[in-house]
Amino acid sequence: MTKPLDPAAVIAEFIDRVAPYNPQPDADPVAVLGVRTALGEDVFTLSDHVIRALCRAVESYRDPEDRGDCANCGGRHLDENLHCRDCGQLHGILGQVIADHVRRFAASPRPDPSQPASEIDSP
Ligand SMILES: [Zn+2]
Repeated sequence: MTKPLDPAAVIAEFIDRVAPYNPQPDADPVAVLGVRTALGEDVFTLSDHVIRALCRAVESYRDPEDRGDCANCGGRHLDENLHCRDCGQLHGILGQVIADHVRRFAASPRPDPSQPASEIDSP
């Protein structure tokens, strides 16, 4: 069983990890962050150093489901096979191989349906 995520405890641990590296430990706090969840609530006063670190951590976060945008429709719901759930486009190496094959097939000369197949294949 996984233990429940306690956001206030996570913020407190983050501050404990980052604050010792504040180059100006005596500077006044610049931000107040309140966290209230079913597990409790806490209010943190944050130094410039800590709030900047928190912002960088938040900015660098990517959702595990984030596999990029669909090149075809711009949708953001690619499944684990890089298949767009919105328009059906297939991405990644397999998607590129299939797209290249489709392009080659579309560009190849079409047999003239008025001629028998044996005449098309003979040089
Ligand atoms: Zn798409």
